Amino acid sequence: MKKSIIIFLVVISSNSAFAGFDLGGIISAGTDLTKAAILTDGEVKQLASDASQATDKLNPVAPPVSPYAKRISKLTKGMKFEGNVKPTIKVYMVKDVNAFAMADGTVRVFSGLMDRMSDDEVRYVIGHEIGHVNLGHSKKALQTAYTTSAARKVGAASGGTVAALSDSALGDLAEKLVHAQYSQAHENDADMYALKLMKANRYDPKAAVSALRKLEKMYGNESSVFASHPAPGDRANSLEKAL
Ligand SMILES: [Zn+2]
Repeated sequence: MKKSIIIFLVVISSNSAFAGFDLGGIISAGTDLTKAAILTDGEVKQLASDASQATDKLNPVAPPVSPYAKRISKLTKGMKFEGNVKPTIKVYMVKDVNAFAMADGTVRVFSGLMDRMSDDEVRYVIGHEIGHVNLGHSKKALQTAYTTSAARKVGAASGGTVAALSDSALGDLAEKLVHAQYSQAHENDADMYALKLMKANRYDPKAAVSALRKLEKMYGNESSVFASHPAPGDRANSLEKAL
């Protein structure tokens, strides 16, 4: 087991969400990838959507008849979100306690997290993740990932327009996005977005605190090897204060 931190503070095995990476046939058609640091909103959305398709191919998505899919659709029914991007939420049948979002509004919650959390706690996690999207953090993460990824190298190597990303380049980008690191400030802002969302939707806002306390219990209040990542206990304390 390699200890690492992902979007939602957890311990995962190094290849958990990316076992058997096979991205055959996934192509990003017609996206201009010559601009690294400055991607247009359209390009960001396109890349995020391509990366989302890549991770969906790779991971077992809960089918609509699955109790997990039914539970997610039930607990998000009528949920109102602030911001332009509305989430597209699906469940990965993966035992890790995790969730992530991408700039196109893709939100994926892992069954391992759903097993451990109440409906309101899952709502808080979804709110936190879509907060990263609507506050612009996911766009920044994509731009960073793109700049440092094989996708960028492909663009640079061709010296011009790239019509399609290779499977490996797209896979590289997708993995970077799933494991994107956010700053402490971004984590706090996403937590506050989630708290506001919980209140606006009349869900129990205290679930934000209890969700983080559960993570603290599972993993301790260490913020892992990434010093910038706030520990769950500290985040719970901030949220308690905000309440
Ligand atoms: Zn986060």
